[in-house]
Amino acid sequence: MAQAQMRRAVESGVPDNQQFLHPLLKKNYGNWKYHDRPRPGVLHHVAHGGDEVWTVRAGTQRQMDVFTIRRLCDIADRFAEGHVRFTIRSNIEFMVSSEAKVAPLIAELEKNGFPVGGTGNSVSMIAHTQGWLHCDIPGTDASGVVKALMDELIDEFRREEMPNRVHLSTSCCEINCGGQADIAIIVQHTKPPKINHDLVANVCERPAVVARCPVAAIRPALVNGKPSLEVDEKKCICCGACYPPCPPMQINDPEHSKLAIWVGGKNSNARAKPTFMKMVAAGLPNNPPRWPEVADVVKRILHVYKADARPWERLSDWVERIGWPRFFERTDLPFTKYLIDDWRGARVNLNASTHIRF
Ligand code: SF4
Ligand code: SF4
Repeated sequence: MAQAQMRRAVESGVPDNQQFLHPLLKKNYGNWKYHDRPRPGVLHHVAHGGDEVWTVRAGTQRQMDVFTIRRLCDIADRFAEGHVRFTIRSNIEFMVSSEAKVAPLIAELEKNGFPVGGTGNSVSMIAHTQGWLHCDIPGTDASGVVKALMDELIDEFRREEMPNRVHLSTSCCEINCGGQADIAIIVQHTKPPKINHDLVANVCERPAVVARCPVAAIRPALVNGKPSLEVDEKKCICCGACYPPCPPMQINDPEHSKLAIWVGGKNSNARAKPTFMKMVAAGLPNNPPRWPEVADVVKRILHVYKADARPWERLSDWVERIGWPRFFERTDLPFTKYLIDDWRGARVNLNASTHIRF
């Protein structure tokens, strides 16, 4: 009997990127001699073999409708060489093999409302989370904050005048996406969840919800003869972690869900080690559609950093050098004992195991 053939594994995940590369990038992959930046928003790569590639970077709003994507692809076909790629901060890049194509490409992008910049020591586009479009737990709009803020910071995207690159992020809930950024805008809940006891038994897997709570504040309870949950409000730190697995534990609130600003995070280990962000402003109103209070604090921090930091100091390096007391003095932000906690005590006071505790 014929031996059964092994089934080929079906892999999921991103496809091989080589097939999408600009031909010159593919040809010279890993074989570049040097690169420079002829102007903000443009990178120029020279290969050992003499090939040259100019990359023009433009900002996008990240969540794009199909018409915008078609327009960008159309620009790539008419003014570039039919290849684009996206950066991790939602910028789009067009590659061309001749310097003469750069200026018309920039003019076309700007004419269509896509600002060119984001290279070198600029404020990059904001890395924002999916928000209401994809996620079911946001406490605010993510792309709306990005639009409102970048409208005010667009000049810093177009120029390279910061001491070092500045990465901004927004997170529309308190617990998930976002990651480390030089300046991060993060939802901050200030009241424990309100429980709809009629729905808990039908919707929530109660042990999973109990295990979710980092401070063991949730207990099973019988309410009006139905299995439900209760929260010890003295223990609750209003993190919102119980809301995703149990939507009847509503934590979003138009008045009490606020915004906080964190600073000094970075993933890179260039010059100094990667750092975690620290909270420097809390309780800012969640005030769409322009979030003026948030914009004010972000701009204040950015302007002081720009004026005060030494060349190549990231925001965290700058704060490290001047110290937190001076950071609050110079930015004129009020300091309270609840800010810049570095969570060193987390190992003892947060739930770091999978055990369920009651
Ligand atoms: S930050 Fe939170 S609410 Fe926003 S997309 Fe991520 S998980 Fe969803
Ligand atoms: S998971 Fe967070 S919000 Fe929910 S009860 Fe526990 S501490 Fe409070």
